[in-house]
Amino acid sequence: MRIEQNYPLLKHNTFGLDVKTKYFVEYENEADLQKLLRDEYFFSQQFWHIGQGSNLVFLGDFDGVIVHSAIRGVEKIRETDGFVWLKAGAGEDWDALVAYSVQNGWGGLENLSLIPGEVGASAVQNIGAYGADAAGCIEEVHACFLETGEKRVFSNPECEYAYRDSFFKKPENKGKYYITHVVYKLSKKPEYRLDYGNIRVEIGDRTATLETVRQAVIAIRESKLPDPKTTGNAGSFFVNPCICTAHYEGLKKHYPDMPNYPVDEETVKVPAAWLIERAGMKGKTSGGAAVYEKQPLVIINRGNASGRDIADLATEICNAVKEKFGIDLQPEVNYI
Ligand SMILES: Cc1cc2nc3c(=O)[nH]c(=O)nc-3n(C[C@H](O)[C@H](O)[C@H](O)COP(=O)(O)OP(=O)(O)OC[C@H]3O[C@@H](n4cnc5c(N)ncnc54)[C@H](O)[C@@H]3O)c2cc1C
Repeated sequence: MRIEQNYPLLKHNTFGLDVKTKYFVEYENEADLQKLLRDEYFFSQQFWHIGQGSNLVFLGDFDGVIVHSAIRGVEKIRETDGFVWLKAGAGEDWDALVAYSVQNGWGGLENLSLIPGEVGASAVQNIGAYGADAAGCIEEVHACFLETGEKRVFSNPECEYAYRDSFFKKPENKGKYYITHVVYKLSKKPEYRLDYGNIRVEIGDRTATLETVRQAVIAIRESKLPDPKTTGNAGSFFVNPCICTAHYEGLKKHYPDMPNYPVDEETVKVPAAWLIERAGMKGKTSGGAAVYEKQPLVIINRGNASGRDIADLATEICNAVKEKFGIDLQPEVNYI
């Protein structure tokens, strides 16, 4: 187990915030994790588990313990004529897992190429893009319950997956389970999902294969989203809000071009990016933080932003959208 004191987190958050934590603890296996969970001093501190910090905003230095999983490894644990089951350590890089599955001809994860982060977080966040989400391939999630140290294996239905949501994100469970491994069921006879975004156009004359779908998704993402290596950001800052149909019908009279995706008879989903742009927030700045010109759902660090700058800008965006449309935006990122 690696334990660091007064440790810089600059390389552990994609916003590029230069903050420190009192302690940084990285465990390499389940035995290390069990040891940590028997430590009374650990529980006397405030603590937070991170992956690659690609969905976080540190509001300042962290006066406690930042925990990170270095459980690595990807193992084929089962195979039939049609499927393979991969068990991946929570500390594995997500896109490396996607690349590995594509190289081997196993389908299911290719539309989720280039999403930053680790395997453990993919199961917490239910990451999604281009018509796919992690839940579509997750068979089991292996986790450790902090209060007792007890190991628990969650089946897919027990993870209660929904749009960008899971059992692990519910307020009553948040931060209470540390994920150690995730089991994915992948197809040896993949069906390609090409009808989202510009995937079909990007593939062009090439034959659709796992590799060309992956390349197309990567090319589209690189053209639309800022690269955290050069411009700090956490991807989509807000979740697309769901509003009641009556509210939507009222707004539609004033904004007939408002994009909408019916969820059920009572609810309509509206793109947060459209709301932010129409509320006049595109390109707005607060200190070192700015709304990204190409995609208003993304807040960027212009180089010298503090977590407070980012939070202030997010509040300004929420207020502007609330005032114009009466809609409350919810951040997708975690404030720490
Ligand atoms: C440029 C960019 C593009 C993005 N695009 C997308 C996208 O298309 N779709 C999408 O869904 N997301 C997207 N995101 C958001 C982000 O990539 C995901 O939320 C990702 O899953 C976060 O992974 P992470 O390892 O960085 O987790 P962190 O941000 O470090 O943590 C996220 C959450 O997971 C928890 N967590 C992490 N590891 C564990 C563990 N082992 N056990 C228990 N809890 C854990 C943390 O406590 C926290 O609640 C994007 C982000 C960026 C920067």
